[in-house]
Amino acid sequence: MEGQNGKHKKFSVLVLVLLLPLISFVSVVVVKPSTGKNLQVRKGSTFKITIFADLHFGEDTWTSWGPLQDIHSTKVMSFILDQEKPDFVIYLGDVLTADNIPIANASLYWDQALSPTKDRCIPWAAVFGNHDDAHFIWPTEWFSDSGIPPLKCSSLISSSSGEDNCIFMGTTRLQLMNHDIGSSALSFSQKGPNNLWPSVSNYVLKISSSDDSESPVAYLYFLDSGGGTYPEVISTVQAKWFNSTAQEINPDSRVPEIIFWHIPSRAYKTVAPSGVINKPCVGSINKESVAPQEAEHGIMKALEARPSVQAVFVGHNHGLDWCCPYKKFWLCFTRHSGYGGYGNWTRGARVLEINEQPFSLKSWITMEDGSLHSHVFLSS
Ligand SMILES: [Zn+2]
Repeated sequence: MEGQNGKHKKFSVLVLVLLLPLISFVSVVVVKPSTGKNLQVRKGSTFKITIFADLHFGEDTWTSWGPLQDIHSTKVMSFILDQEKPDFVIYLGDVLTADNIPIANASLYWDQALSPTKDRCIPWAAVFGNHDDAHFIWPTEWFSDSGIPPLKCSSLISSSSGEDNCIFMGTTRLQLMNHDIGSSALSFSQKGPNNLWPSVSNYVLKISSSDDSESPVAYLYFLDSGGGTYPEVISTVQAKWFNSTAQEINPDSRVPEIIFWHIPSRAYKTVAPSGVINKPCVGSINKESVAPQEAEHGIMKALEARPSVQAVFVGHNHGLDWCCPYKKFWLCFTRHSGYGGYGNWTRGARVLEINEQPFSLKSWITMEDGSLHSHVFLSS
């Protein structure tokens, strides 16, 4: 997100003064992200976003099957990017199956997942899922007949005694995020305010108008729904961060807000279709139960309080791809994009198309075989 203009700043100061008692009560420091980069609608065009969810690179790395799945996932992404030609790509968590990666630095696999987007010079942003920073879990079958395959235990992670260099403690969220950010100027990923850690992928990006790079068309909020090395939740302090940031940069809720995280909140259970997906829900697969976060700590209440929120997008459940209305906005699954991860449903990606004037948010799912389905308007 870019800095704001003077007028906006003065208004923000006024709102800040009015909200000071509330802000000091929750004692959240509002950190203004400033990357100096800009996402802008092209003149005469819409702004198109492709979401890749649950790619699960690095699954079963020690087999010949595992790396083949990653090649298939790369093909899915390449095909979809060439077909949809998006302005922006979102990696919606479970980019890796880190619990299957017996090397010291999982960012090698992260790079593979980014490469189709990077090769096409498309900017991207990433948010973490529950598998991205997980520790390596030794497969039990290695301890019976098949035996332990030859592993390259790295000296990078060895202790001073050099005795624990085969522990594979995983690559942390912070290491992965630093790697993503440093890997290319195309990365719009950010590590959020450190008072939200261990939750790292919390940030907001502005899409600005084709006429004026200062004028926002929509705000994209990324929240880290946890999992891996800590509980699967969006914490109270993250909800407060969302609230105070939104109040500051969009005080009158004039600008539409679109929300992205990996693990569905509990509210998804309340709108889930039973069996066939009937209107007003729109989608093509409803093959499993919603696997929600462990607890609800206020993020849904914060979203419900803002008329500007249009929709929430999650991954995590590979067998679900529906969108259903919830209160004044939509709760959407995306689509399992990777050949890694459970489930053999055809792979695809959810696409969002933002029209600037008048504002609209349209979505559909694009498949690895080129077919499109589940078209829906998500703006009121
Ligand atoms: Zn997954």
